[in-house]
Amino acid sequence: MEIGKIGIVGAGQMGTGIAHVCAIAGLDVTLQDTNPDQLLKALDSIDRTLERQVSKRKLSAEDKQIALARIHATGDFTDFGACDLVIEAATEQEDVKRAIFKELTPHLRAEALLASNTSSISITRLGAATDRPERFIGMHFMNPAPVMQLVELIRGIATDDATYEAIRSLTEDTLGKQIAVSEDYPAFIVNRILMPMINEAIYVLYEGVGSVEAIDIAMHLGVNHPLGPLALADFIGLDTCLSIMQVLYEGLADSKYRPCPLLVKYVEAGWIGRKVGRGFYDYRGETPVPTR
Ligand code: NAD
Repeated sequence: MEIGKIGIVGAGQMGTGIAHVCAIAGLDVTLQDTNPDQLLKALDSIDRTLERQVSKRKLSAEDKQIALARIHATGDFTDFGACDLVIEAATEQEDVKRAIFKELTPHLRAEALLASNTSSISITRLGAATDRPERFIGMHFMNPAPVMQLVELIRGIATDDATYEAIRSLTEDTLGKQIAVSEDYPAFIVNRILMPMINEAIYVLYEGVGSVEAIDIAMHLGVNHPLGPLALADFIGLDTCLSIMQVLYEGLADSKYRPCPLLVKYVEAGWIGRKVGRGFYDYRGETPVPTR
């Protein structure tokens, strides 16, 4: 199956990065979001990222313009009829994703494939909420998508071989990424391992074992992680971290996955990380300052 036209739902940090990766790989992209400001932000961010590559001579100015011209931003699904594949990358909440699939699928061709970039939610359950569970798959890009080499692929119970093969080939051959295949269990491989570590770092802060800076420097220099866990949580988005912990807690019914109350408090305050300028650090000044 040839995939040349991609639809992306959600123009947040992941939708933006996925649009960038697809456009650079020569695919036509229709990028949709219900928030018009977010669409403008996405186009501006892709423009600036590509410009940095031009200034480093990794991309020609002409190729930058060609890639940008491949991305078409829209507020609704009327232009999705020509898409070969739609990747859903909206907010990590099951009810939001289900509502999107309900509204989106009547606009799609019968043969079109559908993927979700969810970090944690059951692909089988999401697929069952669509009209095409056999052509539905998990395609979990890492953040930032243009930089990170991995895409986790997750087959739901109904995902057929042709869909898996088309998405594997797109990911490896067209987008040039590496894949890791995960069974469909809560949070898959990457976040099943990563998110409990981040949640534990937040417990370490909550219990007063270490300060924000001490925790991050300990894991950065002590374990050689490029980012400390609290800075990484801010980068991912604390709302997304909390949603993933809730999926782990509910899906695996084990108290070791209970979200730290301090994580809940930050999300309730709206201090959800870099994307709003404040999380465990305040990013509004010259350098990030811990908020506790
Ligand atoms: P984000 O908050 O940056 O963006 C979410 C976007 O979805 C927003 O622009 C919002 O306007 C849009 N949206 C919400 N409801 C919508 C609707 N009904 N229709 C269209 N758009 C809608 O979140 P993100 O970090 O980009 O995460 C998006 C998805 O990618 C989530 O499923 C998340 O779990 C997953 N993911 C996130 C990361 C990460 O590090 N943040 C990494 C891999 C995967």
